[in-house]
Formats: sequence, structure tokens, C-alpha cells
Amino acid sequence: MPPSPLTTSSPPLKVADRVASGPSSEVRQIFQTALKRTGIISFANGSPYLGELPFHQLADDAHRIVTEFGSTALQYGASNGIPELRRHIVDLMAIEGVAADPEQVIVTAGSQQALGFAAHATINPGDVVFAESPSYAGAMAVFAAYEAEIVHVPGDRDGLIPAEFECLVRVAWAAGKLPRMLYTVPNFQNPGGMNLSAERRILLGRICQEQGLLLFEDNPYGLLGFDGATMRAIQPDAPDITFYFGSFSKMFAPGLRLGWLLAPEALHQPLTDIAQTAALNPSVFNQLLLTAYLDGPSWRDTLARYRGLYRAKLEALVGALTEHMPAGTTWDLPAGGFYLWVTVPQGIDTHELVHEAIERGVAYVPGTAIYTNGAGRSELRLSFCLPSVEEIRDGAAILGRLFSEALA
Ligand code: PMP
Repeated sequence: MPPSPLTTSSPPLKVADRVASGPSSEVRQIFQTALKRTGIISFANGSPYLGELPFHQLADDAHRIVTEFGSTALQYGASNGIPELRRHIVDLMAIEGVAADPEQVIVTAGSQQALGFAAHATINPGDVVFAESPSYAGAMAVFAAYEAEIVHVPGDRDGLIPAEFECLVRVAWAAGKLPRMLYTVPNFQNPGGMNLSAERRILLGRICQEQGLLLFEDNPYGLLGFDGATMRAIQPDAPDITFYFGSFSKMFAPGLRLGWLLAPEALHQPLTDIAQTAALNPSVFNQLLLTAYLDGPSWRDTLARYRGLYRAKLEALVGALTEHMPAGTTWDLPAGGFYLWVTVPQGIDTHELVHEAIERGVAYVPGTAIYTNGAGRSELRLSFCLPSVEEIRDGAAILGRLFSEALA
């Protein structure tokens, strides 16, 4: 029998073209390698330290939710999330000046899923997405999956430089491309640690409005400033074009997989439809457990303890790096969040050395995993929240030795 034209031209196990051309995440690979090995000190994963959570209280809440509300908690639910949680989300966003109606909020399985929904709704192949330089690898992977062209915008200590952004938007228009959106992590950015200044927030929102771009404001770290101070979000000054993304992963626990999305009003319905098609609804049980936590007073104290703890861990890291890293190593101190972005002297290739670092018991994220254009060989991201202070000191000493040997 002659082979069917269908099977010869399109073998069944061949993935779709857009999947084949997507990036394989270097961060994820390093993370997986680090997870498989026991005793590794990981500066690689952006995971919170969970040891301060009130586990017994959460266990009591979980027990009560199942025994008293089991037939609701374990059932399907509303595709945009339970109203009690959406009300808490509105209160949280109000801290940063966002005024929203709970009906506008869409609860998702983490903000990563929300980014996927928003990208699905807005990006056509070839559209240009602008992002910080460096920017969050997980978002870059989402935009690449929707076949966007990613353009990194130069920045400094105060985040993205508006004039550079405007210039790059004009260049894209002139090249016949469609500048579609600016993606930014304005608070304690992943991976750079910088904060977008108040003035630039307003300016960037204005440029997006004038140039006809959307703005994706991704804010998982806003409540994690070491001094507890918060900044006004971009959304209140550009509500018609801004998608605001929030997460409970960093301020509470990523294991519940809960985050949210606030879309521009005109796009709320398509986004709700996308959420429903993709996931039906976020876990009702997890939402009830989170709501019980947010109903009580303890989460504020827990968060305050985390801020102190994370500051102490960053201080330990910086102290140990100062002691052990080769001369010429630099970084900018973040005022909160999870990440220290480090630049090492020429002659050290962080991409090449990552496997040897893992052999010696330390994982980090090389800059090449963050940029989409092969840059970043002199840079690395160190997450300081999960390891203990002792591990941080030991890990930094191992890295210092490795990098010094590479220079010798
Ligand atoms: N945005 C940024 C900037 C992040 O750092 C992360 C997680 N590392 C996410 C979104 C996704 O977080 P989650 O899905 O756990 O809410």
C-alpha cells in the first residue's frame, strides 16, 4: 500500500512550527538539574522561603474548608475566581493606587498563566514586544511562543529609559513593524533588581498611549520592599491600555498557584473567555485557603518578617561576594525583591561555568539565559531568598573560587 501523503509530509510526532522555533528555557534546565542533585546550594530559582508561614493555622483552615464547605471547595467554580478572593485582590492593588472593581479581576493559576492569557489575546506573529534589558525569562518565553519579536530597551538604576524606548518604537514603525506592547516589571525587577522611578512610570504610560501600544505591568514583588514602602503602579495613570499582573507566589506561597490579571475594561470579556477555554477555573479549594489566610491579621506580620529576613540574606550575600569575588565584580543593591544581578570581569564566562558550578554544589542563572540575543556572558542572577544565611556564605565562597580560577 503506498504511504499516505499525510503521514509522509506530516509525521504525527512533529510539533507545530511555532513550538519548534520557541526557545528551550535555560533557566528551567538549570533549575531541573539543581533540583535533581541533593545538597546543592541554589541561587538559581526565584523561590520564596516558606519557613515563616503559619503551617498549623493553614492546616486548620484546610481542615475546616473541606469539612464545612467540601462540596463547594472541591467543585468547579467561576472562571474568573471566587468573589471573596477578588475583593482581597482589589484591596491589595489599592495599596499601589489601583482602583478596580472585583468584577474586573480574573484569578489565574499564578501570574505566569495570566501572562499567557494576555499574550494569547493580544500578540500576532511578528508583533514587537519591548522589554527591559535584561528581562524576566518566563515572560520572554511566553512572548516568543506567540512569535513576537522581542526588543530590549536600555535602562539604568531607575529602570527603562523612556527616551530610548520612544526611539526604538519609532524605529520599529519605520521598519514597517507593529510595535504592540511594553512589558515591564516595575518593582524590584527580575532579574535586575531595579525600581522604575515614579516619573518614568508616568512617562512610559504616556508614550504607550501616544504610540498606540499596550502596557503589561507585571508586579509580583511590589509588597516586598525591605522597608515596606510601596510605589504607585502605572495602571492608574494609563488604565485604558494597561494589563496589570499580580501574584501570591512571592508574598505567600507559589504552591497554591494563584495570581491575577486586571485587563483594560474593553478587553475584560475576551480575557475571561480565554481563561475559561484554557483552564475552566482556578482551584476553588486553593482560593478558599488563600482567602482564609488573607481574612486573618497574621499575613501582614508574616510579610513584615519576610522583608527583614530577605534584607538580612541579601546583606549576607553581598558581604560574602565582597570577600570572595574577583576584583572588578560589580552589582547594584536592590531595595527589595529576590534578585541580585552581578557583573563579573571580562575573562569569566558565566554561561560556560554554570555546569562546573553545579558540579561544585552551587546553581545560578547565567545572563545568557535571560537575554534572547546571546548576550549576558559576563552576568549572572543570584536569588537570595531561599538559601539559609550559612548556605549563602558557603555558596558565594564556592563561586568566588570558581570565578577566580577562571581568571588565573
Ligand atoms: N513575573 C515575574 C517577574 C516573575 O518573576 C515570576 C516568577 N518568577 C512570574 C511572573 C510568575 O509567577 P507566578 O506564576 O508564580 O505567579
